Amino acid sequence: MDIRNCTRCGKIYAYDGFNICLKCRREDEDDFEIVKEYINENPGATISEVSEATEIDSKKIIEFLRQGRLEIKDENNIILKCERCGASIKTGRFCDKCVLEMQREFKQSIGGGVDPKNIRDGKMKERIKITDKYRNRE
Ligand SMILES: [Zn+2]
Ligand SMILES: [Zn+2]
Repeated sequence: MDIRNCTRCGKIYAYDGFNICLKCRREDEDDFEIVKEYINENPGATISEVSEATEIDSKKIIEFLRQGRLEIKDENNIILKCERCGASIKTGRFCDKCVLEMQREFKQSIGGGVDPKNIRDGKMKERIKITDKYRNRE
């Protein structure tokens, strides 16, 4: 078993692919539910308003946005940038245009350097999904 220290609370936990322990992850989930509920009830709220009302760190709220789990509808709330072209986005990591372009490029690259056996087995897809998950967790 891989034992590590939680990067959030410092306690020892059995590493399972995440940098924080189960308890801290549960706390994040609770916070996420609180933020989600607040935004549902107050769709026009800004991040600082959400943070004040829910007493949850705005950094954490921005992290939820970056993970694509939340969307703040207010036009003034554009705080995220597409990691590819720099366009302002409201949720996730890339703008719609780049997502489409990347999908197209990915399909093209399959014809090239990638072993078709891996694609058939679904290994490629699996690997991409996993690295994505890690990247989002930071
Ligand atoms: Zn922890
Ligand atoms: Zn973009």
